[in-house]
Amino acid sequence: MTDRYATFAHSGAGRFLVKRLGLPDPPRLRRYEPGSEFGPVTLGGAGRLAEPTRHILDKLPISLATGKGGADERCAALIFDASGIADSDGLGAIYEFFHPVIRSLRASGRVVVLGSPPELCTSAREATAQRALEGFVRSLGKEIGRGSTAQLVYVAPGAEEATESTLRFLLSGRSAYVSGQVVRIGPAVVDVPDDWDQPLDGKTAIVTGAARGIGASIAHVLAREGAHVVCLDVPAAGEELTQVANEVKGTALQLDLTADDAPRRLADFIATRHVHADVFVHNAGITRDKTLGRMDENQWRSVLDVNLCSQERINDVLLAENLLGEHGRIVSVSSVSGIAGNRGQTNYATSKAGVIGLVEATAGAVAERGLTINAVAPGFIETKMTAAMPMFVREGGRRLNSMSQGGLPVDVAETIAWLASPASGGVNGNVIRVCGQSLLGA
Ligand code: NAD
Repeated sequence: MTDRYATFAHSGAGRFLVKRLGLPDPPRLRRYEPGSEFGPVTLGGAGRLAEPTRHILDKLPISLATGKGGADERCAALIFDASGIADSDGLGAIYEFFHPVIRSLRASGRVVVLGSPPELCTSAREATAQRALEGFVRSLGKEIGRGSTAQLVYVAPGAEEATESTLRFLLSGRSAYVSGQVVRIGPAVVDVPDDWDQPLDGKTAIVTGAARGIGASIAHVLAREGAHVVCLDVPAAGEELTQVANEVKGTALQLDLTADDAPRRLADFIATRHVHADVFVHNAGITRDKTLGRMDENQWRSVLDVNLCSQERINDVLLAENLLGEHGRIVSVSSVSGIAGNRGQTNYATSKAGVIGLVEATAGAVAERGLTINAVAPGFIETKMTAAMPMFVREGGRRLNSMSQGGLPVDVAETIAWLASPASGGVNGNVIRVCGQSLLGA
């Protein structure tokens, strides 16, 4: 659905009024385009991550800046290795690095702070300082504006070489609507793709709820990344499903995920047609909004069943029957409602918080098999689901975030593609919000 206010704000007359009246000013976000170049990037800090990061940056089509900042050197990204900060006195180093250069960050710029997971620090003082980085990054994300993003990446000791897919994602236009996030990377075997534009070449991906909206976009992006995509949706959506499957040169699979025999049929389909799946995206979801006192049992049960219980049943069969290939990836779609809660959505928020619980509870067991499981939690995304909201609720959802606009389905899809990459083996058990740093539940 069109954001008419943003279209107006980008027009000549609109720009004038927005400035004069101090109205929300939604910037044009830099999104991924093949072959797009990027830079310059300033890299600072002096911990164990600076050198590995410099090696990664050397491989990207970017230039490195001198780090002196100023109008002559407007940076596209500022990266700071804070892993060497051992106590709260040392936090001054982030001020010293960012203060002189932050105002020279370009529109749709990127800030990435690298640190050590507090729970793995060797002293309370170091853990305190590393935890403090979260507040810095989340606040910076809220003040840099103009479509720029800020993230904190905690890299566990031993995972220094596992950061490339994450840095590529966070620096690129693929992460346009992801800001204020804390990503955790652990040690893992990383399968570096021959071609970073086709990391899923030769892989099979299954996407549920693929007939429309976010699911259709996920199918398109995973196909663009090289995957053969099996597009799954209910039989009633058969026509739209076939259309999406044809567009991505994939396969359509009509299946109601809540049917008793759905896990069995899915397992048989994977085993006979593909031997295994490399990526499984649990995207299908429904809403049946009502305040709790007015909600009938079916509205409660159906939302839980589609959004959460079906994911549990399918994961059980995927793992029990070894239906995920080497470097297999499970990505679940949760929601900011599952983090912040939402009036009229006790059923939906319960299911989406449950999805986060499922990811967190399963991450350890899947890691032992060399697999990963992660969740994305979209905020306000421009789809039929949000177009159906009452106007004032819709406008609130759109503007109450650091980007002053709703995200697009492709923003969720790009985030899932990063988590689905064979190079993202160190990213496990994460919940990444795709919400433009929504103020809800922040
Ligand atoms: P949508 O309603 O446009 O698409 C959902 C798809 O899931 C539909 O094609 C539907 O047929 C399919 N589906 C529903 N029940 C199914 C079942 N039993 N078996 C198989 N397929 C089934 O929704 P969307 O906006 O594209 O949302 C996609 C996901 O993102 C959902 O999980 C949703 O909760 C989540 N989400 C969306 C937003 C948003 O702003 N749109 C925000 C947060 C989270």
